[in-house]
Amino acid sequence: MSTPKLSTQETYDLDRAHVFHSWSAQGSLDPMVVTRAQGTRLWDGDDNEYLDFTGQLVFTNIGHQHPRVVEAIQEQAATLCTIGPSNANDRRSQLASMISDLLPDNLNKVFFTNGGTEANEHAVRMAREFTGRRKLLSAYRSYHGATAQSIHLTGEQRRFANDKGASEVVHFFGPFLYRSEFFAESPEQERERALAHLERTIQMESPDAFAALVLEPVIGSAGIIPPPAGYLEGVREICDRYGIVFIADEVMAGFGRTGKWFGHQHADVVPDLITFAKGVNSGYVPLGGVVISDAIAGHFDERAYPGGLTYSGHPLACAAGVETITTMKDEGIVDNARRIGEDVLGPGLAKLAETHDIVGDARGVGVFWALELVEDAETKKPATEAAATVAAAAKRNGLLVIAAGNRLHIVPPCTVSDEEISTALSILDEALGSLS
Ligand code: PLP
Repeated sequence: MSTPKLSTQETYDLDRAHVFHSWSAQGSLDPMVVTRAQGTRLWDGDDNEYLDFTGQLVFTNIGHQHPRVVEAIQEQAATLCTIGPSNANDRRSQLASMISDLLPDNLNKVFFTNGGTEANEHAVRMAREFTGRRKLLSAYRSYHGATAQSIHLTGEQRRFANDKGASEVVHFFGPFLYRSEFFAESPEQERERALAHLERTIQMESPDAFAALVLEPVIGSAGIIPPPAGYLEGVREICDRYGIVFIADEVMAGFGRTGKWFGHQHADVVPDLITFAKGVNSGYVPLGGVVISDAIAGHFDERAYPGGLTYSGHPLACAAGVETITTMKDEGIVDNARRIGEDVLGPGLAKLAETHDIVGDARGVGVFWALELVEDAETKKPATEAAATVAAAAKRNGLLVIAAGNRLHIVPPCTVSDEEISTALSILDEALGSLS
């Protein structure tokens, strides 16, 4: 390459001078310079090695720099870097068909986007066109993206600064037994009461006004919360009763993260639209999309779909997606995520919860876990400073985890090994121990 590379210090200085970062007050940032990564590991500018249990923003499901995916991108770049969306392209065709093959027979078409928020924007637009209705439902505990419609779908606090006017979104409480809004004492009670609350919300908000309900099958950023058995089936029934399109937001839960290809596959449901991004190609090249049911796709057979994107189905991104899915199948990577969750990471985190009083709840599935930190086990008062302190202590010992409010999100790649989990658990044990 003719452009000289930067030193670590130059990288940092130019970042601080010129790069405007997401979600942050720009004055106080201190980004880590990352120079290389491989599998579960990455290295900073001083060549310190870390176990990356963040998946970055929970997207490196196949790990960093998987050689097969890197090679597929290189091959595609050498052949055809880019082509407009109205042409047909081999990797795009192949990826769309491979994604439909992971799903039931009535989900056959894929609209490609550049990421998760656009996928939700388009899924909602399709649902509105299909139903001729406007209003939307989503959970308070949810994150659906940061563009105009998706940020209003988002229920958690990142919505507040953007929520300046009427949004046509009605939020509801999903089931979360650890902090039940319904005074429930069992998962069954929580499920039934959450479903009753959802149905009452629809009835009180004009039942024939809703185009779509958008739901993460396992809540991600807002707490890593798997639903109780039967909840998603109940939501499907309610959507059917009121003619509401059921959109499963699989952006974070999809492509192996929960130990199945899609989070909703832990339940007996078929959504009408499925949005995805992140794990589809582990973010090696930006990609997202909407999988569309035959009924909704058929609506646009004779009338134009009013939407599009310059880079829809970008060949480099699709080539990475094709090779990611093939490699995940060949190497049993989704099953590894399931086994790690059931046999190693889940039990290991449960043990940490027993050992350390500050851990109020350990929950998750596959390689998608949270530890919720509380000041007192009875009152469950959130320990708001502790998560950042524990994450910083873990980082000093070579482990990266996400600190989110009073929670630690522990989200290694689906390729993680037993040994890496064991190292991470002892670092976390020590970091939690250093609090007392
Ligand atoms: N939906 C979910 C469930 C997500 O977790 C995210 C991102 O974290 C998004 C949508 C938005 O995706 P993107 O950041 O690619 O726009």
